[in-house]
Amino acid sequence: MFCGKCLLRLTCLEWTGPPHKKCPHNADSESDTSRWLGTRVWPIKGKSIETKGGVIGKGRPDFCLCVSPGSEECVKTHIADNRIQLQFDLGPPFWRWKFDEMGEEVSKLWNSEEQKKFTSLVKMNPVSQGKSFLKPALESLPCQHRKSIVSYYFNVYVPRRISMKTRAGCKIIDTDDDEAGEASYSKGSRKRCRADSVTSYSSKYVKTRYLTGRR
Ligand SMILES: [Zn+2]
Repeated sequence: MFCGKCLLRLTCLEWTGPPHKKCPHNADSESDTSRWLGTRVWPIKGKSIETKGGVIGKGRPDFCLCVSPGSEECVKTHIADNRIQLQFDLGPPFWRWKFDEMGEEVSKLWNSEEQKKFTSLVKMNPVSQGKSFLKPALESLPCQHRKSIVSYYFNVYVPRRISMKTRAGCKIIDTDDDEAGEASYSKGSRKRCRADSVTSYSSKYVKTRYLTGRR
C-alpha cells in the first residue's frame, strides 16, 4: 500500500513467527494471541528498568540555566541531553527501535550541498500544488535513496521550517505553505503565516496538516 499523502510505503506482513510456547491458553486461542506477544526487547533480562522518568507530554520546564533560554541553542542542548539520557535508559534497543534515525540527527547523514539542493527541490515542487519532490530528488541526489529522502523530509526539513516560522512569530502554521507560500506572503495574498501584535504564542496554536491529519 502506498500512501500518496505522507509518501510512506505501508506494508502489513502476514504473521509467520513461531507460536508462544509458554502461552497458558489452549491451542486454538494460542494461535490467535501469540502473534501479538513477540519477543521482549526491553527491559533487557536481568537489567534494572529504572529510568530517570518524566511525565509524557509534560514538555520542558519553562526555566533553564542556559545563557539564552528558549534560543535555538537552548533547545538543541536540551534535546541532545534527553537523547543521551534515552540512549542510556534504553541501551541497545535505542538503535533497534531506530531512535538513532530520528530527529535532527538525520541531517548529519547529508552534506550541506545535498541539503541545499533538497530544499530548492522541495520549493520547486510544492506538495500543496500536488507536485512531488521525490522523483526529482532521487534523480538529483544519487547518494540518497527513497527512504533517506522521506526520512530527511519529515525529520529535518519539516521541523526546521516549523521552527523557523514559530521563531518568526507565526501563530498558525500550515506546512503546505512550506514550499509555495513564501511568495504569497510578500504579495499579501492569503496569509497563512500570521504574526500579529501579540508577541507571545504557544505551540498549541501551531497547526500543521501533517499533525492534524487534515490534508
Ligand atoms: Zn535551556
